[in-house]
Amino acid sequence: MALVECALCSKKISSKAKSCPHCKADFENLTQGQLEARRDIAKIKRQQGLMTQSFIAMLVFCTGVLMYFLGDHETYVWMPLAGQIIGVTGLVWYLSMRIFMVAQKVKSKSR
Ligand SMILES: [Zn+2]
Repeated sequence: MALVECALCSKKISSKAKSCPHCKADFENLTQGQLEARRDIAKIKRQQGLMTQSFIAMLVFCTGVLMYFLGDHETYVWMPLAGQIIGVTGLVWYLSMRIFMVAQKVKSKSR
């Protein structure tokens, strides 16, 4: 018994499994074409999720930058520090999403 990647969720499953224990994909009743179509849909959904996350991360970054540069720092003395923390968090989040997206593209090209 060997471990293979599920065609849909890419998690490790047994090569003899008739369905995926993670995403419940039923391999017995699906044709190769149906499997491929489902895999493409799953991939697009993953990419959309990443796009959404990187967009939110960019908004978080901008919020931090605005707080740092444009906030009323005399009334709100905590704002520059909070802006820095939020800005750096957003930037790190955004960059890691971009790296993850590039890594996924490289992975799908090599298939
Ligand atoms: Zn699966």
